[in-house]
Amino acid sequence: KKEHEIMVRNIAAQAAITLDNSQLFEKVKSLSEKKDEFIALASHELKTPLTTIKGYLQILEKKIEEPKSKLFLSKTLDQANRLNILIDDLLNMSRIEAGKLEFNYEEFDFREMLFELSETYNYSEISHRILPDIGDKALFIKADKQRIEQVLNNLLNNAIKYSPNADKVYLKLQENHNKVTVIVKDEGLGLTPEQQKNVFNRFYRAESTKGINGLGLGLYLTKQIIDAHNGKLGVKSEEGKGSEFFFSLPLKNEIL
Ligand code: ADP
Repeated sequence: KKEHEIMVRNIAAQAAITLDNSQLFEKVKSLSEKKDEFIALASHELKTPLTTIKGYLQILEKKIEEPKSKLFLSKTLDQANRLNILIDDLLNMSRIEAGKLEFNYEEFDFREMLFELSETYNYSEISHRILPDIGDKALFIKADKQRIEQVLNNLLNNAIKYSPNADKVYLKLQENHNKVTVIVKDEGLGLTPEQQKNVFNRFYRAESTKGINGLGLGLYLTKQIIDAHNGKLGVKSEEGKGSEFFFSLPLKNEIL
């Protein structure tokens, strides 16, 4: 009888803990949802005035002739664009957390996208040259054009940002079997195996790159986007030598 009593007591104690835990879990979940809602709201509110600022700056940039003023204006516009990207990252992160990131799939020439993107980078005043090795054959895929462009921008910007002592970034396109693979290669700071395991986690920033600006969201968003396309994303890297970020997308994607 005594044994039975102890058993009942133990079960009751366990039940109390479980109940407590589940209440705690609900509480944490609701707080976390509130935080994501706040981030969504705040980034939306920040974006509205910024869009107006950018609009007026673009008008002024066309009107102003005096070289120094033109230069200052273009630098201001660059920073406004940077701010816009940061806010978009926050907005997208909160959409992912709420399961509300939407995708619009369409067919387009992927090779052409890579070509135009490298032209845009090479025509703007950046510290690095993008060296494309993408063939000359059209390569149609079905994907969310805007989001895939966002992925490419993330990888190219990172390759530039994290290779301060280099001046080249390699962009390669490969077609094999039923998939296309893109490789973005830099000769920069590189990552240890441990860091490579963590780079796709939300807010992760490698210790060795802390001096360089960032939120630790770009690769997390990149991973979500590639996953949603049934693709694969990965990294090969050697500390001090450079990194290769690559992703593949299915050529014929019946699921989308
Ligand atoms: P952010 O650049 O804003 O920090 P990301 O999610 O794009 O955010 O990258 C996460 C981290 O991964 C970076 O902080 C950096 O430590 C590392 N990383 C990303 N790309 C590279 C690269 N090409 N070379 C070296 N480290 C990189």
